[in-house]
Amino acid sequence: MKPVIALVGRPNVGKSTLFNRLTKSRDAIVADFAGLTRDRHYGDGRMGQREYIAIDTGGFEPDCSSGIVQEMAKQTQQAVAEADAVVFVVDVRTGVSGQDHDIARYLRQCNKRVFLAVNKAEGMSDSPLLAEFYELGIGDPHPISAAHGQGIRSLIEAVLADFETPEDEEALPDGDEEPVIRLAVAGRPNVGKSTLINTWLGEERLVAFDMPGTTRDAISVDFERQGQRFKLIDTAGLRKKGKVFEAIEKFSVVKTLQAIADANVVLLLIDATQGVSDQDAHIAGYILDSGRAVVVAINKWDAIDSYQREVLERSIQTRLAFLRFAPVLHISALKRQGLGPLWKALADAYASAYRKMTTPVLTRLIHEAVQHQTPKRAGTFRPKLRYAHQGGMNPPIVVIHGNSLDHVSDSYKRYIEGRIRDHYKLVGTPLKIEMRSSK
Ligand code: GDP
Ligand code: GDP
Repeated sequence: MKPVIALVGRPNVGKSTLFNRLTKSRDAIVADFAGLTRDRHYGDGRMGQREYIAIDTGGFEPDCSSGIVQEMAKQTQQAVAEADAVVFVVDVRTGVSGQDHDIARYLRQCNKRVFLAVNKAEGMSDSPLLAEFYELGIGDPHPISAAHGQGIRSLIEAVLADFETPEDEEALPDGDEEPVIRLAVAGRPNVGKSTLINTWLGEERLVAFDMPGTTRDAISVDFERQGQRFKLIDTAGLRKKGKVFEAIEKFSVVKTLQAIADANVVLLLIDATQGVSDQDAHIAGYILDSGRAVVVAINKWDAIDSYQREVLERSIQTRLAFLRFAPVLHISALKRQGLGPLWKALADAYASAYRKMTTPVLTRLIHEAVQHQTPKRAGTFRPKLRYAHQGGMNPPIVVIHGNSLDHVSDSYKRYIEGRIRDHYKLVGTPLKIEMRSSK
């Protein structure tokens, strides 16, 4: 599981600036989409091979009643509770304030690993001013400049040092190994997650239950459907009671993010009776950012009439336009309708995400695409696409080599993407196109 790092501190110390720096390197599959409302509180980051989730508590509305524990919004406390480590951000220019002491006291009793980041310390890595911060009782101050990118690497390396580097345990459908589809079911409370999972597990031969008793009550269930093995990843907002799952009130973004990160394929459930909410759009945005394969299922299809169905279809097309590559199915978990096609869609999405693409075929596709439509000249530059190879799976990445490729327009990239998608019949997975110029 990706470690979760919460950024905590009083207003104006630079939490959001640090958050942006920690999460900006993530590979957004495609930059900006209409309808994608980004959640700026949670983001994925990477330091070398190590990935993490960062939470910015900065934008959360402070509670106006007095006392630090009340003052720190409830969300901040929840963020700390959900985090594996906390980065406590202070400001070298203002020195230690009373509020810093209050926050330090709160953090000391939280029983979490806390790292002290002294921000705005550009060019001050061994300033005597830093010594003052020892009095917070949080340990060594790490001087950083969030704005100028100084000291960030050593801070995050210290934070991540306690966590194991994940082994590459990805179940690739290579060789003799039977592939196991790691499936996460995402959706807001009440959409029907537990109903669906119980229906599945009631229907299918249950291979095994295993419940690693981690602090997070992770649940994972292995089961089989028509010879295809699935591993159901811990799902936010559910608890297992005996053999059945039941919904619990609490919805956790962190748990959702971790489940998505841990999955190969994500099933996004939408409640037909509620339409696409902001929360649905946020979850869809996380899935898009993760690069995972995704299938959208509109549940409770039985509960709406044909007029409502039409309205809903349209709103999905606009509000989830950025997940255009995902198939949209209609199901009723309660009435057990549409579940056959759903299995097929999940398996197809998985197969697409792990499709093997060879260099000769990709290169031929690129040449054919260029023959059909040449990339536009940009000033004196004429982009030249020479050859392509596969750079990764889940999501599939196609790396195109050539000259002046920085000048290839986004629309041309989409054109290339479309041709590759058509050829390989990719459904339910994003496809990433990377350009690598040799000049
Ligand atoms: P937050 O309220 O804790 O999220 O703080 P912000 O990230 O919004 O930053 C508050 C102010 O501090 C902004 O004006 C930032 O530009 C500034 N700031 C953030 N990081 C640095 C830094 O490393 N050096 C300097 N000099 N200013 C910074
Ligand atoms: P969760 O919070 O996402 O786990 O949602 P639940 O599985 O607890 O379902 C919430 C409510 O929706 C329950 O009352 C279910 O009976 C109902 N529900 C779930 N699936 C369907 C469905 O396909 N059709 C209808 N009409 N109701 C459903």
